[in-house]
Amino acid sequence: MSQLATKSATAHSITEKSLPFISDSYINRYQQEYKDDFVDKWDEIIDWRRRQESEGSFFIKALHNYGVKRVLDVATGTGFHSIQLLNAGFDVVSVDGSANMLTKAYKNAKQYGAQIKTAQADWRWLSRIIHEKFDAIICLGNSFTHLFTEIDQKKSLTEFYYCLKNNGILIIDQRNYDAILDAGFRVTHEHYYCGKSVTIQPVYIDEHLIRFCYAFSDGSQHHLNLNPLRSCKMMELLSGAGFKDQKTYGDFKETFHCYEPDFLINIVKK
Ligand code: SAM
Repeated sequence: MSQLATKSATAHSITEKSLPFISDSYINRYQQEYKDDFVDKWDEIIDWRRRQESEGSFFIKALHNYGVKRVLDVATGTGFHSIQLLNAGFDVVSVDGSANMLTKAYKNAKQYGAQIKTAQADWRWLSRIIHEKFDAIICLGNSFTHLFTEIDQKKSLTEFYYCLKNNGILIIDQRNYDAILDAGFRVTHEHYYCGKSVTIQPVYIDEHLIRFCYAFSDGSQHHLNLNPLRSCKMMELLSGAGFKDQKTYGDFKETFHCYEPDFLINIVKK
């Protein structure tokens, strides 16, 4: 496994052809994957200015439409959405399971003059740390697909449901894995991961695992192992957890061809 993992990524090709089925080493890996040096480079991947331009005020408008005031950002990362929402006047609590990410979010918040409130918590045990209820939970940036087992997915969604007020909303997104699995991966740099100095390529793809390689201009490489969650599975999980009134947007648009968008954004109600 470690031998395969060190092979370098070649643009537009899958270099790791023979990874076996998912082993335990892929599960619960996110904390190890977001090492200091990768976290330091995360903002180079997303490019805040370009991501802001691509998203526009989509999330702010959506939250206003549902009358949201208090937001729980459960996948804070380096703080892109938390800080944007704080600056737009929302009351935000910023959660992440990775201490490295929260440290970076704190530094970013200081830089952008925002008063961030952070808490380190894993989604699967969220209510052990978060005791309040929110009008909205956001779980953005393809974060949910860090979970590999249905038990963990269900457990996390149940916790999200519990932390919402009645009629509260969950905004949760994922890469358009149907497109990747059925039609192949394409690089656009248009949404979410807008940084042009970083090459993002899958080095392994099957129905259960996509291993992305992030190659930076200084020659360094980092990997993320993600679960290619098909959109019908995401819908099934959301309704199974009790969420209703699902609306899905493709790259922030209401109408789209199923293989066209890079990212799917789901809004559901408790
Ligand atoms: N939302 C940010 C963005 O769009 O830039 C960060 C996205 S990053 C791909 C995924 C984030 O989810 C990481 O910060 C990671 O630590 C967090 N995460 C993954 N699995 C988690 C879990 N089980 N509990 C809490 N946080 C988790």
